[in-house]
Amino acid sequence: MYREEYSFKIERYMEPERFERVRKFAEGQESPLLIVDLDIIKARYQELNDGFSNLQVYYALKANPMDEVIMLLDSLGSNFDVASVYELDQLLRLGISPEKMSFGNTIKKARDIRYFHEKGVKLFVTDSESDLRNIAENAPGAKVYFRLLAEGTGADWPLTRKFGAHPDVIFNLILQTPELGLIPWGVSFHVGSQQRDIGQWDDAIARTKYLFDAVLEAGIELQMINLGGGYPARYVDPTLNIRAYNAEIFRFIQEDFGEHIPQIVMEPGRSLVADAGVLVAEIVNIATKAKNNLYKWVFLDVGKFGGLIETIDESIKFPIYFEGEGLADEIILAGPTCDSMDIMYEYYKYQMPESTKPGDRVYIFTTGAYTQSYSSVNFNGFPPLRAVLLPKE
Ligand SMILES: *Cc1c(COP(=O)(O)O)cnc(C)c1O
Repeated sequence: MYREEYSFKIERYMEPERFERVRKFAEGQESPLLIVDLDIIKARYQELNDGFSNLQVYYALKANPMDEVIMLLDSLGSNFDVASVYELDQLLRLGISPEKMSFGNTIKKARDIRYFHEKGVKLFVTDSESDLRNIAENAPGAKVYFRLLAEGTGADWPLTRKFGAHPDVIFNLILQTPELGLIPWGVSFHVGSQQRDIGQWDDAIARTKYLFDAVLEAGIELQMINLGGGYPARYVDPTLNIRAYNAEIFRFIQEDFGEHIPQIVMEPGRSLVADAGVLVAEIVNIATKAKNNLYKWVFLDVGKFGGLIETIDESIKFPIYFEGEGLADEIILAGPTCDSMDIMYEYYKYQMPESTKPGDRVYIFTTGAYTQSYSSVNFNGFPPLRAVLLPKE
């Protein structure tokens, strides 16, 4: 069988000098360890803002809730999309103003709405009548935006069905809002996370415009369009960059709204923080299961329960760098726990240089989002993924 030399292009994911700093910093530290570079988050935040003149960013902190990440984004002018009372408490502990927060989860208890209201949060999302009534009762006078259902087609990590409602339902909710003592502000959607098809925003923006027009006839003037998340990070499968997304999406908005561009809001998670993380891991074992098996099994000290849950169905393909050289072996990659679903990649074949041995380090790029926050508490005793900042130069 013909085999290629192992090769991995670090520069596709991170400047090689920066990676060298990460590698040096990781020397002598226990793995697994997530190393996060705030400079990259800052650069992504600026890239995102460059595309629109009147963008309001609400960072979805579930992607990476490290205190330092939140403080950085706060200092850059970001707002925050908050999903639970626990996230709210964290932001308040960090001194973030409630004026900069939205309660962006459609699924919330009435008493949690009250808690947000008492703490000074004035902006709430909704997609159902019972939730809208809960908001009216527990957060009187609040500003409300309405989440439309989106398909999620084309996304590596779709967020379909569970969130949002059909335009007919939303239309009726918007009409009820003034008489409930609430302020109808705008419309939101989420086209699915790591959305590769920019055209998905086109459809959602067109539907939003249709709603704006429909409720205007009933005397309600909406003012805000919330484009959700879905912007990409740099995984194995390439996507267009943030600049291209901004340009296309702004064009869609202009085409539909013409001279009357509403306030534009975005709720990025992944695209702000994913590229900033490198997960340093170690090879625990390399095994062949039968004499004639083509593929080696490679076991890392991090897996689905240690932060790589987005490898479910091999949805997100993290770039994985092995340091060795030589001919490339095609491998199956699995985690360290005693659960047989703890296999990251079996169908998509990653390559590893044949000289690799247990104890070697492995670097998993683009792991700054949805890793630490997803890691389990202590399944098999393994602690949650540890995350630290890359020291400044
Ligand atoms: C998770 C989430 C986001 C962030 O999505 P990304 O694709 O990570 O940018 C934004 N808005 C809401 C409501 C979310 O639940």
